[in-house]
Amino acid sequence: MSPQATRCEELSVNLAHVRERIDSACVAAGRAPGDVGLVVVTKFFPETDVRLLAELGVSDVGENREQEARVKSAACAGLGLRWHFIGNLQSNKAAAVAGHADVVESVDRSKLLGGLSRGAHERGHELECLVQVDLDDSPAPARGGAGRGGAQPADVLALAEGVASTDGLVLRGLMAVAPLGRSPAPAFARLAELSERLRQAHPGADRISAGMSGDLEEAVAAGATHVRVGSAILGTRPAIK
Ligand SMILES: *Cc1c(COP(=O)(O)O)cnc(C)c1O
Repeated sequence: MSPQATRCEELSVNLAHVRERIDSACVAAGRAPGDVGLVVVTKFFPETDVRLLAELGVSDVGENREQEARVKSAACAGLGLRWHFIGNLQSNKAAAVAGHADVVESVDRSKLLGGLSRGAHERGHELECLVQVDLDDSPAPARGGAGRGGAQPADVLALAEGVASTDGLVLRGLMAVAPLGRSPAPAFARLAELSERLRQAHPGADRISAGMSGDLEEAVAAGATHVRVGSAILGTRPAIK
């Protein structure tokens, strides 16, 4: 087999396994299999992998760095993929991200809204946004560095109002990453509670993006509507440069 065919086989097997995990988690939670959307996180992996994933039926991919996302999404234009931006967002890159992402999942402060709105206008269509919630309430030294981004739970509803009232932005729901090194279930439960409160004011903002390779079962059990899975499909990421 050519290296490309080998890689295709590998991605196909991993993807099938992750889809089975999602379906079993749905059944275990009394939810319909297929109730949960899959965003395949392709960060650090080449454009060739994105093309293979599209051939294998993947519709949504996620990236966390502006430049990498811009280059890859341009190279893969025409494949019909939806591009999710899931990384820490700098306000001076917000307009650029809105220029290529279809969904920005990591909106965590109001300072980003102006740039996102401008980028959406320049591109000429509305940008779907999720508010990222910081679920890590451990003291700063236990967090291992800068933290993983996100608005404080107490600030989420106000920020969501800001998104909903910004021209060009569409509020679709919430996103979170479980805190490192602890059981994810209480954090995901808290996210579900916040989502319920959000939906009282914004019934259409019903997405809950939670769960990754290591904890997608817990996220589905807690009501996630989307999971973001990287390494379980693409393999171990190359070291961060
Ligand atoms: C990298 C990343 C993922 C995917 O993580 P895996 O453990 O590789 O599945 C999901 N969400 C965010 C925000 C990420 O940065």
